[in-house]
Amino acid sequence: MGYTQLDIAPTISTLLGFEIPEKDGREIKEITAFCADKSVDQILLIVVDGVGATLYKKLNGALAHLQTLSKDGLFFEIYSLPPRITTPNIGTILSGYAPEHHLLYEVADTFYTPVRSVLELASEKGIKSGIVIELLGAKAMLNRVDLAIGIENLHGIIDYDRRIADLALKAFSLEGIKLLMIHMRAIDNCAHHYAKVWDDLALAARTIDNNCERLCYGLRKPTLILATSDHPIHVEKWAYLEDNNEDVPLVVGYVSGASLSKEK
Ligand SMILES: [Zn+2]
Repeated sequence: MGYTQLDIAPTISTLLGFEIPEKDGREIKEITAFCADKSVDQILLIVVDGVGATLYKKLNGALAHLQTLSKDGLFFEIYSLPPRITTPNIGTILSGYAPEHHLLYEVADTFYTPVRSVLELASEKGIKSGIVIELLGAKAMLNRVDLAIGIENLHGIIDYDRRIADLALKAFSLEGIKLLMIHMRAIDNCAHHYAKVWDDLALAARTIDNNCERLCYGLRKPTLILATSDHPIHVEKWAYLEDNNEDVPLVVGYVSGASLSKEK
C-alpha cells in the first residue's frame, strides 16, 4: 500500500528517536534507510501550499531545484487526505493523525487543541523545534515549540515566501533548531488571486523553487529536507491540471551543509 500524508510525522519522530502515541500513520522505511548512512543534524520540513503530484510534474523546469534534490534523494507520490484544505491537511502532516482524530479544521482550532504535533513532542523531549508560518498559525504554536515565527503578508506573496526562507536559515543558524517546519504559499495564493494563464502559476512555482535552492545553499549543517504539499491545487479554475490525482509530491533531499554559498 502506498504512503500518505499521515506517514510524514511518524517518519520524522523515528528519525529523532521517539514514537508518536496512537498515531494513524507509519514510518516511511525508505526514508529512514536513506538516512541510515548519513549524519543528519537537523530536519527541514517544507510544506508548499497547493501542489499535487500531477501539477508538480507539469511544472517540471519551474521546480528544477526540487526535482534535482529528489534525483539525488527520494521521491514519493503520497495520498492527500480529505478535506484537502490547508489547515486540516497541515494538521495531518504535522501530527500523523487523521482529520477525524486531530479535529483541526480551522486555525482557531489549533489554539486550544490537546493534540500535539511532532514539533511539540520533539520540543518536550529536548529536541529544539520551530515553525515559520503565517502570523495566526505562529501565535497558536507560541509556547508549544521552541521558536514560532509569524510572518504577515504585507508586500505580496513572493516577498512573504522569501522572508519565510530567510527566517528559516536564521532559525537553524542562530537558534540551533533541530526540526523546523515552514509553509510557502506563492502557488496557492497565485491560483486563488491572480493567475490568468499557466505562466503565472509557473512563475509562482519558480519563486518557490528559488527559495528552496537558497535554503539548500544557506544551510550550514547536514540537513534532511522533506518537501511536500498540503493538497493538490484546489481552485476550481485550475483543478483540471491535476487530472483527478489526489496525491501530493514528497521530495526527500539531503544537503551536507558544506557547499559554498552562491550568494557571494
Ligand atoms: Zn493549502
